[in-house]
This record gives sequence, structure tokens and C-alpha cells, in this order.
Amino acid sequence: MIKIKTDAEIELMRQSASILRETLLIVGELIKPGITTAKLDKVAEEFIRSKGGEPAFKGYQGFPATICASVNEEVVHGIPGTRELVDGDLIGVDCGVIKNGFYSDSTRSFAVGKISPDAERLMKVTKEALDIGLDKVRAGNRVSDISHAIQEYAEGKGYGVVRQLTGHGVGKELHEDPQIPNFGPPGTGPVIKVGMVFAIEPMLNEGVEDIRTLADGWTIITRDGKLSCHFEDTVAVTENGPEILTR
Ligand code: MG
Ligand code: MG
Repeated sequence: MIKIKTDAEIELMRQSASILRETLLIVGELIKPGITTAKLDKVAEEFIRSKGGEPAFKGYQGFPATICASVNEEVVHGIPGTRELVDGDLIGVDCGVIKNGFYSDSTRSFAVGKISPDAERLMKVTKEALDIGLDKVRAGNRVSDISHAIQEYAEGKGYGVVRQLTGHGVGKELHEDPQIPNFGPPGTGPVIKVGMVFAIEPMLNEGVEDIRTLADGWTIITRDGKLSCHFEDTVAVTENGPEILTR
């Protein structure tokens, strides 16, 4: 069942999302060659707690950290650690906040130093695919209109669209109904209504769409070892169209 949030609840979610937006800005400013992903994680956790929020991922199904730090061929769910970022890396930082009992969920990808033109293009197209998906988050559309728009754009640019991981509803739980795949035909699935809140999150691969999980049980990488990129925002459906809470 897709939960409809009241205006008051969406206001509470705005506060959660605002902390998350700031967290990712702060983390982004620290990203440079030589910094470890554990340091980024520590800064994120301290900032979230300083704002009266809680890191949503820490302990979620046993995940050990505040951020997921996914570098290069890592698609999502990379565990922060002693790895030092190097010039030319592409890192996705996925983070969630709980505040007022509500979750927010967002991902930003960043260039470490100078990245290749191919990596730059992948980042640009992934961000654009997210924007195109967000624009479909409108009352009266169907959920798969979001999916289709993302797939059509991303595959049109020659990228693989990850199939096994999806966007989702978000609210009092991190993952609520509906699932929002990044592929599929338009015009199917639930009708989008005012008060729904979604996390939209395309994951685009430079090569094949296939993925696999590493032995740590968390980190998901591209099966062919080529680059992957991820952007995500939490968005509320309003009378006036999509309101992106995490921007
Ligand atoms: Mg996320
Ligand atoms: Mg998510």
C-alpha cells in the first residue's frame, strides 16, 4: 500500500531532507585525492547528529556505516573504510537521515580530482536521467512513467540501466511501496497521487547492466568491471508538481 503523507508530515520530511542535503554538500566539499571513505563517513555521521538527526543506514539490516561509498565499478552499498580516493575516481555517496520519525534518502556522485571524459559523460547523463525521472513524479501519471522515461533516456545515450535495484516510496520507513524500477513500459503501475513521497534513483553502467555482490555481502559492482554512477533524490508529489525535498 502506498502511504499518502499529510502536509504536516511532508513538512517533517522537509526537515529530514534538509539535513541530508547539507550533509551531502559537506561531504562533497571534502572529496579529493588522499581522503578515506571512512573519514567521509565520520564527518557525515557527526554532522547529522549535530542537527538532531540520526543516520538512517547505520544498523539498517546490519549495514555498518552512515554513508554508502561506492567507487568506480561499485554500483551501490560500498562500505566506507581505509580506502584512499585517488585522482580520477568516481564516487557515489548515498546517505539517509531520520528526523522527526521520517526518513530521507539521497545520493550524489562526485569526481575525485580530474576524471576521464567518459566518466564525466556518465555522471552528466545519470544526473540528467534522474532529473527526467523526477519530472514525471506528478499526480495523474503512473509509476512506470518514471521508469520508462529514465530507461529511454539512459539507453538512448548507450548506457546499461541496472535492473535489480529500484527507487521506492519513503516516509516512516526507508523503503515503502511502491518499488520504482528504472526501466519498463510507460502507463502501468499505481497512479501517482498528491502526498506520495518517492526516492528516485537511477543507476547507470558504462557497460552491461548486470551486477554482482562482493564477498562482504554488501558492495554491488558491475559484472564487467566498468564504471557505474548513481544519483538519487527524495521527492514529494504536490498540487504544483514534484517538490524535490533533498535539493
Ligand atoms: Mg539511497
Ligand atoms: Mg533509495
